[in-house]
Amino acid sequence: MAPFQSFTARLTRTTSLSELTRHLEFEMASIPRFGFVAGQWLSFKANMPDGEEITRAYSIASPPGSNSSFALCLNRVQDGFMSNFLCDMKEGDEISCQGPFGDFILRPPMRDTIFVATGTGVAPLRSMLHWLFQPEDGRPLPSDSRHQGKQLWLVCGNRTEKDIYYHDEFLRLAAENTNFHYLPTLSRGSAGWQGLRGYVQEHVPAVAQGRTDMHAYICGLEKMVKANRELLKSLGWDRKSILYEKYD
Ligand SMILES: Cc1cc2nc3c(=O)[nH]c(=O)nc-3n(C[C@H](O)[C@H](O)[C@H](O)COP(=O)(O)OP(=O)(O)OC[C@H]3O[C@@H](n4cnc5c(N)ncnc54)[C@H](O)[C@@H]3O)c2cc1C
Repeated sequence: MAPFQSFTARLTRTTSLSELTRHLEFEMASIPRFGFVAGQWLSFKANMPDGEEITRAYSIASPPGSNSSFALCLNRVQDGFMSNFLCDMKEGDEISCQGPFGDFILRPPMRDTIFVATGTGVAPLRSMLHWLFQPEDGRPLPSDSRHQGKQLWLVCGNRTEKDIYYHDEFLRLAAENTNFHYLPTLSRGSAGWQGLRGYVQEHVPAVAQGRTDMHAYICGLEKMVKANRELLKSLGWDRKSILYEKYD
């Protein structure tokens, strides 16, 4: 049996998250349920104008459910083919993909956890957080279930207020769950921004210092992932407690 499956995904909804970023919702054509683990990614395949076939990886931004739908959080990359191809898709369009792949998934048993992301690196963390906190019918889970009442922090970095993705959603999750702490930080926030400023790694020590009993899940571009891994190791963390996914 093949270790992964090929699917045709049909775009059902597309919304803008910022000038260059989109939230895309798909459903897998012809299967009733698409099984994956929160944090995994799919490989998408398309043909360039010269006929060359290319594949690119995209993290699933939605939690696993009982149907065949899933979402992506997509950033347009300048001069990139696949990111723009996906962002330009219209509702009803179809694309081939394979998966799910990856072991950037929650490690049991649940511990207090810091999630760190920049930009669309928030995608797999959104999948994990929704899986931890919200069943499909939207009711909050009791504290003795998936998150087990552990303290969870999301430190996510963007440039300006306009670049924060899923802001209202994470604010709502934090308002509904006293053990979820949402810490968006802006490197170029406006004068009116009341929240944290600077890079994500500047805010990680406030949560992680003296805490070698936690897990960290870090996702985004290599430079940021490296900076945060090195920081956590310098704080005495075991490398096995630091899980990460690099986009480049
Ligand atoms: C496991 C995994 C999961 C990923 N998940 C996501 C996701 O959920 N959302 C998402 O938007 N991207 C994600 N990516 C990145 C994605 O796979 C592509 O690399 C990205 O969309 C660029 O593809 P492209 O074909 O448009 O550009 P390419 O032709 O591949 O690249 C064009 C140029 O841009 C540079 N570049 C490549 N990627 C980036 C980037 N992310 N930011 C800035 N410059 C870049 C390249 O070095 C190159 O010079 C993921 C990558 C991996 C490995």
